[in-house]
Amino acid sequence: MLTIDGARGEGGGQVLRSALALSLATGTSFRVERMRAGRPKPGLMRQHLTALEAAAAIGEADTEGAVIGARELVFRPRRLRPGAYRFAVGTAGSTGLVLQTILLPLLTAPAPSSLTLEGGTHNPHAPPFDFLAGAFLPLLRRMGARVDARLELAGFYPAGGGRMAVEVAPVRALAPLALVARGAPRRRRARALVSRLPRKIGDRELAVVRSRLGWQDDELEVVVLAEGMAGPGNVLLLEIESQHVTEIVTGFGEVGVRAEAVAEAAVQEARRYLAADVPVGPHLADQLLLPLALAGGGVFRTLPLSRHASTNIDVIRAFLPVSVDVARVGDAAVEVTVRA
Ligand code: ATP
Repeated sequence: MLTIDGARGEGGGQVLRSALALSLATGTSFRVERMRAGRPKPGLMRQHLTALEAAAAIGEADTEGAVIGARELVFRPRRLRPGAYRFAVGTAGSTGLVLQTILLPLLTAPAPSSLTLEGGTHNPHAPPFDFLAGAFLPLLRRMGARVDARLELAGFYPAGGGRMAVEVAPVRALAPLALVARGAPRRRRARALVSRLPRKIGDRELAVVRSRLGWQDDELEVVVLAEGMAGPGNVLLLEIESQHVTEIVTGFGEVGVRAEAVAEAAVQEARRYLAADVPVGPHLADQLLLPLALAGGGVFRTLPLSRHASTNIDVIRAFLPVSVDVARVGDAAVEVTVRA
């Protein structure tokens, strides 16, 4: 049984999600101590518990400490059980984070799975649906995965009420990925999604994108979600498609935050990415580490790693006999190399 120190590095929920994914994929039991010790409200919160319950279901796992507030937890997977599952994350939780926990193990399972995930599909501090479908999953497919995700209903924080469907077919082994250059620019597109809020919010966000990034009118679109489709919400999605990769930067609308400020934050993130001339942005970087480690190899260039990503590397090293090297390439970029 592995022991993971949940206080290590960032000390957040990612330690648990990554440990669950790797535990299921490798059949290794683990104990986490001092869970989320780095957060203002430490211990298991609702969204982490849902990810844990989903992991336990697909791995027929025995758990100890699976209650809200728990600081210690034991997880013993027995065998992967692919199939049809429905997981409801509750109003405020992110379906993307549940998917992040169970997708990779299900790729290694002996049969296909069909997932219905209910809850938030566009939550702050989590991968929004469009990022998963447009940036992350295409790279997984390039590694040989057969996985499709469909947004059935958008669900915004805090109302939730969204739904995504994900089909996963097993793959014998993921292939290594090499992503060291973006390649030529192909397409860029800004979409402001607005649900049960004035369309004007989207127009104001796109005006910021036009003036700060110089994107043209035919690259900007307000998408008004049909009444009754979802609770109130707004996100701004900046899609940057290059020859070898598509990155998606998201600004999350929030009560009390001006549309201009939401757009400005996303614009800043897009500018950092564009200026660094790397293929992989910060979120994609931390999410690519696990698939590369499970594939037993790969390399990508990205911005200097977040604490989040280095914490993920620590968890990977605990579960898998891989080396992960991070080397500086120039002032604003690093190359991450994973080897078996
Ligand atoms: P906590 O302990 O507070 O719950 P956590 O470790 O669970 O923290 P975060 O640190 O917020 O959660 O990270 C959640 C995950 O969501 C990370 O994999 C991160 O890359 C991803 N993520 C966050 N924002 C975005 C975004 N805008 N686009 C894509 N992915 C995102």
